[in-house]
Amino acid sequence: MAHDKEREKLMVHLLLNHVFACSERTALMSTVPSSYWQRTAPALALASHLPSAVDVAVIGGGLLGTATCYWLARAGVRVALLEREGLASGASGRNGGFVRIGSAGSYLEAKERLGAETARQVMTLTTENRTLLRQVLPEEAIACAYREPGSLRLALSEEQAVRFRREIAELQADGYDALWLDRAQTQELIQTPLGEEIVGARFRPAQGLVHSALLVQGLAQAATRYGASLCQAEVLQVTSEKEELYVQTTQGSLHAHQVVMAVNAWTGQLIPEMAPFLVPVLEQMLAYAPLPPLFTAGVGVDAVDGEYLQQTLDGSLLVGGCGILAPDEGVGVWEPRPLAVVQGALEQIVPRLFPALTPQLRVAARWAGLMGCVSDAHPIVDVAPGLPGVFFVGGFSGHGMPFGLRLGQLLAESATSGVLAAELWPFRLDRPSLLPWPRS
Ligand SMILES: Cc1cc2nc3c(=O)[nH]c(=O)nc-3n(C[C@H](O)[C@H](O)[C@H](O)COP(=O)(O)OP(=O)(O)OC[C@H]3O[C@@H](n4cnc5c(N)ncnc54)[C@H](O)[C@@H]3O)c2cc1C
Repeated sequence: MAHDKEREKLMVHLLLNHVFACSERTALMSTVPSSYWQRTAPALALASHLPSAVDVAVIGGGLLGTATCYWLARAGVRVALLEREGLASGASGRNGGFVRIGSAGSYLEAKERLGAETARQVMTLTTENRTLLRQVLPEEAIACAYREPGSLRLALSEEQAVRFRREIAELQADGYDALWLDRAQTQELIQTPLGEEIVGARFRPAQGLVHSALLVQGLAQAATRYGASLCQAEVLQVTSEKEELYVQTTQGSLHAHQVVMAVNAWTGQLIPEMAPFLVPVLEQMLAYAPLPPLFTAGVGVDAVDGEYLQQTLDGSLLVGGCGILAPDEGVGVWEPRPLAVVQGALEQIVPRLFPALTPQLRVAARWAGLMGCVSDAHPIVDVAPGLPGVFFVGGFSGHGMPFGLRLGQLLAESATSGVLAAELWPFRLDRPSLLPWPRS
């Protein structure tokens, strides 16, 4: 038996080497593999029948759609959520599980990209989101391994260290918690010897980690307790007629006073005007089989181009990033299939940063997901062009988890009042930093 297992391992190893050598940039798998999160979260069944009319139809069963649906149902609004595949089948069930306050990238970059005021508004909104997580998860008994151990960003050179220290000074000056840890202090937070390159880390306390699929399922379950309908249906089109909205789906059509579209990477399929601005971009991860407890905080690093790892409560070590190695194959795709060149690079991250772990590493799962990316890496929330009554949200650019509950709450308020909430104005389409996605 053990011998067979060893043989099987060797065959898989040889096969992977062959795949990497022969077709470096081709898809690694012909089917779309599920993620660690999806494999460890029982799937919630969706109804196949649609109600004929609701107050609000929410399209998309990711974090944003389920959060919006939750707040609407909790406020007593008649709401149906329409999801094409399954809850958390998109990016929300395929991500790194980091719930990090602020914008995508560093605080300094965000200030440059979006302006100081917008960067601060994002800090405020994502902090409010953390407060909501702390309230809603116990209130609704949502068990999704949410915790706030803080986040480390490892510096691999003196140049990176200088950049992090500047960012820390900026964060502190604006009233946010962040501190520099030298190599010895960083080592105290990681229970395996650091690789030689690591000179220290930026630490931000009270940043969250979560089991993203369980969060989505939990919010959806809570929404059904408040009376929401959760339906499996692909939305084909939304049309407006005499101030009413008709949602055409593969399961028939639905009449709604307001619609919230939360399909992120797929936004351009339902709102063609958005296709030049919001593009699907492939992001990939792998999971190593459980190891003893080594990492409590989430860990980020610029080893290739913004990699990240978290150890889950069952000891699995999840690693993501390296997408820059397949810039052409990863942009504008609709199916989240892992690519060999990126998976090969991901396998080098942990051995490079923590060489002592190398003999224990066994890849247990590989997967990919689609991010909805925009030029300024800042989410869009607005009324859909030409479709009054349809609010849409997307373009998180790989950083949507810290927005979910609060943006969902504001979208629910907007759909109830029919007017985009003032707190959502920093995310509108007409901001100067939003440009068509650069095509190479
Ligand atoms: C590999 C990876 C790692 C990431 N890591 C992190 C991280 O650690 N932290 C972080 O903050 N962010 C991360 N992100 C980004 C984060 O996952 C997203 O920003 C967030 O999940 C977006 O949620 P959403 O609900 O807007 O979209 P999604 O979760 O993508 O949901 C959209 C849903 O719409 C459905 N849909 C699409 N079209 C239709 C249709 N026509 N009809 C009906 N349903 C439809 C899809 O099936 C899907 O379920 C990562 C993303 C990826 C891919």
